[in-house]
Amino acid sequence: MSRSVLVTGGNRGIGLAIALAFAEAGDKVAITSRSGELPEELAKHQAIAVRCDINDAAQVDAAFTEIEAANGPVEVLVANAGITKDTLLLRMTEEDFTSVLDTNLTGTFRVVKRASAKMMRARKGRVVLISSVVGLLGSPGQANYAASKSGLIGFARSLARELGPRNITVNVVSPGFVDTDMTAVLSEERRKEIVSGVPLGRYAAPAEVASAVRFLSSDEAAYITGAVIPVDGGLGMGH
Ligand code: NDP
Repeated sequence: MSRSVLVTGGNRGIGLAIALAFAEAGDKVAITSRSGELPEELAKHQAIAVRCDINDAAQVDAAFTEIEAANGPVEVLVANAGITKDTLLLRMTEEDFTSVLDTNLTGTFRVVKRASAKMMRARKGRVVLISSVVGLLGSPGQANYAASKSGLIGFARSLARELGPRNITVNVVSPGFVDTDMTAVLSEERRKEIVSGVPLGRYAAPAEVASAVRFLSSDEAAYITGAVIPVDGGLGMGH
């Protein structure tokens, strides 16, 4: 069955791998990003791309209206868009903190809120939020990012309770370190340090995160809600 799927930040990295996984399975995929670009590999599957800054509720509303006209109401929402602005606390400006919270946490609130009204009416829906291992583990230099990512867990679990009676599941995927633009900025030394703490001894490929997202969005996962699924090579075990 072909579903209407929206992946925010689906133009590159983890979001692109997630969008591709759904598109290859035959779903109607829409992606959003600030650039609005449609990668070639997605274009092949008739996916659509809509320009949308998740920091702006009006742009979120307009993007959903466009996606609904093309693919029907969103049945699977993957809130993946996110940013980092890493620096140590004493150097972290209020703008460094609030802008990361605004994109990663409030931006997710904006898209989930817009999607949920139609899902509630349909009495079905799947929401998957992309958090991070550092949301529970913490990470020096990432207080803003970790706060936003752990915030997603409380947000998801509240919605799992609120929307469960309407047959909407809300789950979180917590990747460890994944090879994307976001991690390409880390030094070779930091990369080695990270990998040394990962039981599987390597970074994840974006497609390995996509597999977990696809599972949580499938019929097989109908009884899973409020879960936090790590895809971190064991890095966050025990948290
Ligand atoms: P990238 O930096 O490669 O991609 C980030 C995506 O988010 C882009 O598509 C970007 O599109 C979009 N985005 C950023 N800000 C906004 C905004 N204001 N409005 C709309 N879209 C926006 O990141 P990754 O693929 O690595 O990360 C994807 C998600 O996974 C993020 O939430 C990240 O925190 C999380 N994650 C990543 C890990 C990693 O190791 N890479 C580990 C754990 C979690 P554009 O710039 O065109 O707007």
